[in-house]
Amino acid sequence: MKILVTGGTGLVGYGFQNVASNYDHDFTFLSSKACDLLDYSSTLSWVESQNPDVVIHLAANVGGLFKNMTKKVSMFQDNIEMNNNILKACAACGVKRFVGMLSTCIFPDKTTYPISEDMVHDGPPHSSNDSYAYAKRMLDVQCKAYRDQYGLEYNCIIPTNIYGENDNYNLEDSHVIPGLIHKAYISAKNNIPFVVYGTGKPLRQFIYANDLALGILETLWYSESNIIISPTEEHSIGSIANRIAEAFDIVDLLEFDDTKSDGQFKKTADNSKFKELIETKSKSKSFNFTSIDSGINITVKYFKDHIDTVRT
Ligand code: NAP
Ligand code: GDP
Repeated sequence: MKILVTGGTGLVGYGFQNVASNYDHDFTFLSSKACDLLDYSSTLSWVESQNPDVVIHLAANVGGLFKNMTKKVSMFQDNIEMNNNILKACAACGVKRFVGMLSTCIFPDKTTYPISEDMVHDGPPHSSNDSYAYAKRMLDVQCKAYRDQYGLEYNCIIPTNIYGENDNYNLEDSHVIPGLIHKAYISAKNNIPFVVYGTGKPLRQFIYANDLALGILETLWYSESNIIISPTEEHSIGSIANRIAEAFDIVDLLEFDDTKSDGQFKKTADNSKFKELIETKSKSKSFNFTSIDSGINITVKYFKDHIDTVRT
C-alpha cells in the first residue's frame, strides 16, 4: 500500500518513521516545507502527485494546556483549515482511506468515565482548550460526512497524551512531559527549583509515540469508526514530575506552582475497542505498550543527547 503521512516531521511522524521498516508499505512523510497544508492548491498537488491508497493525517497546530489557553485563534483556524484542505484534496483525488487525529482532550469536560469513542460531542469541552477541541471535533464531523455521502473509509484515531523523542520541548507551549524534561534539565544545570505547574494532582494516560504509530498501522484496516488508542494506566502529573526529577537527580528541587492551571482533572479513556480489534483482527493478535518508566528514560536520554538540536 502507498501511505502518505502528513506531519511526518513531528513527534508522531517520527514514531511512524521509526516503525515503518516493520511493514511492507511504501511510506511518504510530508513536512510543512514540502507542502503547506494551509494552502489548498499545494495540498491538492501533493495528494495528486503521490496518488496514495491511504492518507494518515498527523499534521496540526499542536500544543499543551498553556498553548491551548493563550493561542486560541490560531489553534482553531489552522486546524480547521488544514483539516478541510487535506480532506477535500483526498476526496478529489479518490483516496479511499483517511486516518485523522483527534485527542482525548476534545471530549466533554463534564462527563462520565471511562470516556468512549461515541462521546466526542456529548457536551462542551474544558474551556482551557475549547478552540482546539471544537476544531478537532469538526474533523470527526467531516470524516463522517465523507463516509455517509461518498462511502469513503474516512475515520479518526483518538490518542491520549503522546510523548517521545522528537517532541516539541518549548518551555511554555509544549505538552507536560517534554516541558518538564526541559525544565528539569535547566534546574539541574543551575541548581534552581524545578517548578511544576498546577497542583500535580490531575491524572493523564500517556502513550509513547512509536506505540501509537504501531497501534494505528495494526488497526487502521479493520475499523469502520474512530478508535481510542492508549494504555489503560493513569498517572498523576506529580508522579510524572517525580520520575523526571529522578532522571536528572533533582528530586530535592521539585516544587509545585498551584497558581497555574491544572486543566481538566482527568480524561480517563476506554481502550477496549482497540484491544478487541488487536485480538480479533490484527496479524499480531497482541499489543504491548511501552511502560511509562522506560518511555520517560528513552525520552530523557534523547533530550540530553540532542540538547543543541531538540525542537523548541
Ligand atoms: P507535532 O510534533 O507538533 O508535529 C506537527 C506536525 O504538523 C509537524 O510535522 C509539522 O510540520 C506539521 N505541520 C504543522 N503545520 C503545518 C502546515 N501548515 N502544513 C503542513 N504541515 C504542518 O505534533 P504531534 O504531537 O506529532 O501531533 C500529531 C497529531 O496528534 C496532531 O494531529 C495532534 O493534534 C494529535 N495529538 C497530539 C497529542 C500530543 O500529546 N502530542 C495528543 C493527542 C493528539 P513541520 O515540522 O514541517 O513544521
Ligand atoms: P493536556 O493533557 O491536554 O491537559 O496537556 P498537557 O500535556 O499540557 O498537560 C497539562 C497538565 O500538566 C496540567 O495538569 C498542567 O497543570 C500540568 N503541567 C505541569 N507542569 C507543566 C508544564 O510545564 N507544561 C505543561 N504543558 N503542563 C504542565
